[in-house]
Amino acid sequence: MRDLSSARKLVMVLGPTEIEDDVLALGAMPQQYNRTQEFSLFLGRVFKNLQYLFQTEMPVYVLSSSGTGAMECAITNLLSRGEQALYVNGGTFGKRWGDLCHKHNVIAEEIVLPIGTSVSCHEIERRLIANKNIKVVFTTLNETSTGVLTDVRSVAAVTKKYGVLLVVDAVSALGVEEVKMDEWGIDVLLTSSQKALSLPPGLGFIAFSEAAMRAAEKSNLRIFYFDIFEYFADWKRNQTPFTPPISLLYQLDARLEKITQETLQKFQERYLQLTMRLRTGLRSLGLHVAGNPLANCVTGVLAPEGVDASEVVRVMNEKFHISIAPSPGDLKTRLFRIGNFGNISESDIDYCLASLKETLIILEKEKNL
Ligand code: PMP
Repeated sequence: MRDLSSARKLVMVLGPTEIEDDVLALGAMPQQYNRTQEFSLFLGRVFKNLQYLFQTEMPVYVLSSSGTGAMECAITNLLSRGEQALYVNGGTFGKRWGDLCHKHNVIAEEIVLPIGTSVSCHEIERRLIANKNIKVVFTTLNETSTGVLTDVRSVAAVTKKYGVLLVVDAVSALGVEEVKMDEWGIDVLLTSSQKALSLPPGLGFIAFSEAAMRAAEKSNLRIFYFDIFEYFADWKRNQTPFTPPISLLYQLDARLEKITQETLQKFQERYLQLTMRLRTGLRSLGLHVAGNPLANCVTGVLAPEGVDASEVVRVMNEKFHISIAPSPGDLKTRLFRIGNFGNISESDIDYCLASLKETLIILEKEKNL
């Protein structure tokens, strides 16, 4: 059992996550000069393991940014002012694609989904037939605000058919969901460090297909810090264009080595078992797990009738020292979310479920006061 006090929470949000002590300790290792042969050798291993994670032969670039930086990197390299894109808005993070497009003067068509549902590839095909000027489709693998998964493989078959580029935000999914960048024909795939990779926040990762690199040559939105050709030039010599967060790279290396040794498939299965344990437990408490199809490690739970979901989050935090996530916007009072990314054990899940049961009893009593 963990030692939980008000200063030490059990973190079961959707990132950041619980991190094992050995990986945490690597963050305190002495710094070293990054422009050396030795460091290039080390980065070469990291780069190779990232290709395994992304299931690609293309370079995977390491950005000093959070996930949104990687999203901005995708847009600014692929498109030019006044060009057209399509994005899927299934919640907070899908909507962010639209915000980024508007910021960069890209004309963005939106597919708005009813909350808790996934995009149909027929709808994407319909939009691409109706508007031949769409150059890029932006999607979200796991819409973290609801925990709903996109069938990216089928979407990729459609974008390929129409010669349109497909960008996939896999910030809350890469690692714990099956994604095959090259085989499925994804053009840009991106993620960040603080979710399935269970590292501190601060690193973004992005890979471009050959078609995406060709599009980048024509973009007039490319900005200095995220110019993909700068990253490519340095990637070839196992370096990064700008000083990377070296401590995070030590931790990344350890994580990728662990995943590679375990294999991606076993890593995913292990997390799926924990996710299922959580969902089975939630249902046995009479709670409704929301959304369909659901992503691994992210579970949206509807608060029971008459209970405010944000109160559940508060009591879990104050009384049981567990951080679970509230929901954004209109869902705030209806849905709370539980994550099991990172160093979460079966007994953590059981403790979370037992605490939730107590929390609901406490809230019921408060209601009747
Ligand atoms: N996309 C998705 C699917 C996310 O879950 C998040 C973070 N919750 C982001 C993008 C944004 O990432 P960051 O906060 O690291 O910028």
